[in-house]
Amino acid sequence: MRFDTVIIGGGLAGLTAGICLQQEGRSCAIVSTGQNALHFFSGSFESVEAPTPRMSDLFTQAGIAVHYSPGVRLMPLGTFRPAALSLSDVTLAETPKFARKVLIVNFLGYQDFFTTFLADGLEREGMSCRIATLDLPETGQIMSSPSEMRSVQIARVMDRAWEKAVQEVRILLKDEDTVILPQVFGLNDSSVPERVRQAIPARVIFVGTLPPSVPGIRTQQLLKRRFEVLGGTYLSGDEVLQAHLHDGAVHSIVTRNLGSHYLEADHFILASGGFFSKGLKSNPFQVSEPVFGLDVRQAGDRSAWYDPDFKADQPYLQFGVETDEALHPLLGGRPVRNLYAIGSVLGGTRPELGTGAGLALRSAFAAADGILESPVIPNEA
Ligand SMILES: Cc1cc2nc3c(=O)[nH]c(=O)nc-3n(C[C@H](O)[C@H](O)[C@H](O)COP(=O)(O)OP(=O)(O)OC[C@H]3O[C@@H](n4cnc5c(N)ncnc54)[C@H](O)[C@@H]3O)c2cc1C
Repeated sequence: MRFDTVIIGGGLAGLTAGICLQQEGRSCAIVSTGQNALHFFSGSFESVEAPTPRMSDLFTQAGIAVHYSPGVRLMPLGTFRPAALSLSDVTLAETPKFARKVLIVNFLGYQDFFTTFLADGLEREGMSCRIATLDLPETGQIMSSPSEMRSVQIARVMDRAWEKAVQEVRILLKDEDTVILPQVFGLNDSSVPERVRQAIPARVIFVGTLPPSVPGIRTQQLLKRRFEVLGGTYLSGDEVLQAHLHDGAVHSIVTRNLGSHYLEADHFILASGGFFSKGLKSNPFQVSEPVFGLDVRQAGDRSAWYDPDFKADQPYLQFGVETDEALHPLLGGRPVRNLYAIGSVLGGTRPELGTGAGLALRSAFAAADGILESPVIPNEA
């Protein structure tokens, strides 16, 4: 099978690059093993001070509602963190003391939402809190098995029963000016969080739960849908095992499911993520990039990989694939000319492109531009 570009990894970076290329009429395939960092996404885009027009277009066209208002957001354990560009479910407050009286509402039997930590955190900031529980017949059905009582299962129920939940919250509400709910609304319909907000006569704040992240999964689904609507091919549940290189360029890649049917392309993009997604791997002696065996920037001495202070910025998070200016990764010190490395696989090697989601977006745009600026090679297949 032959494409203009084959992308390894279907997280934020890979999907963004794929959408940019498909929009310009280039045929792309994305191969992705499965879960990615978006499934754990807080809803706030790190290192994006203000969205560029290109980022705004990407989100709007994919149906992803975001807002930008630098402030602080309430974290799942009741602490506060600065945030700016965020999904619209995420409420950003100017200061940590954003309310007078708060009602924290959970679903009966749901243990992945930490109401007591939240109440402690808010009370430390001078807000008074009351915790209440919703006992709905709809969630009662999944409660019979504790392993089913997870964010995504509740979100599936809430897709059809959110109005019932809202009615019950309205009954629970006394004189509180703010209601806090777990982030389990709008898995398949991104308008639901806003409709919940409109239907409750108090300020509504959705707070993250233990993973998986419902807004993160929705974001991934919307980007994937946009890529496919544009004609892209998404091969999910497959893994790129190795690559064939010839004369300093990638010729084809081998995947677990396609076996001897190699994927050939003019361009390849490595968007396989960091340690979490196995885009980078480590053993006691070294950190490596498993598909191409690319050069990885790392500290030689293993004792320099970690800072014993658990809370410090850990040096290993800076490790990543080395690239030239144009994001072509280095192999034996030389750039692979038709391969680009983007997103978390870069670690901290390209600080000017930011960190987290900001790095994923900026490097994806840069790689797509590099490909679009290069001449189209006639398809021989
Ligand atoms: C747990 C966690 C939570 C995070 N939360 C946030 C947040 O809230 N905000 C923020 O700004 N940043 C966050 N980040 C940083 C995050 O890494 C970036 O925001 C961004 O989503 C990374 O996107 P990516 O596409 O580079 O990598 P990933 O999202 O990791 O995607 C890489 C994909 O490549 C696939 N893959 C790997 N190897 C292969 C292979 N050989 N063949 C096929 N597929 C392969 C993986 O399965 C995965 O699907 C978080 C990171 C982690 C690990």
